[in-house]
Amino acid sequence: MSFRREPNPNRNFPSYCPYCGGEELWPNEETDFAWKCGECLRVFEVKYHGQDDPATPHAAAPSTEEALQASLARHGHTAVLKEATR
Ligand SMILES: [Zn+2]
Repeated sequence: MSFRREPNPNRNFPSYCPYCGGEELWPNEETDFAWKCGECLRVFEVKYHGQDDPATPHAAAPSTEEALQASLARHGHTAVLKEATR
């Protein structure tokens, strides 16, 4: 199979036209990110630039073992708890 140009792995797929809400969207040759709305005939781009850092850092998630032990302790299953968490 030959392509007119290489596929763009960073292309995003909008569900609706941001201008008219139309769903008849087609990739457009204007740029590697361009889409054309078949209803309002606008050509626009959808780009993902990355994710910003959160204002406050999240706490580290517990490991599976830590979460299991906490759940067992919370529900009163002390007979099966490891020694360190009793
Ligand atoms: Zn539109």
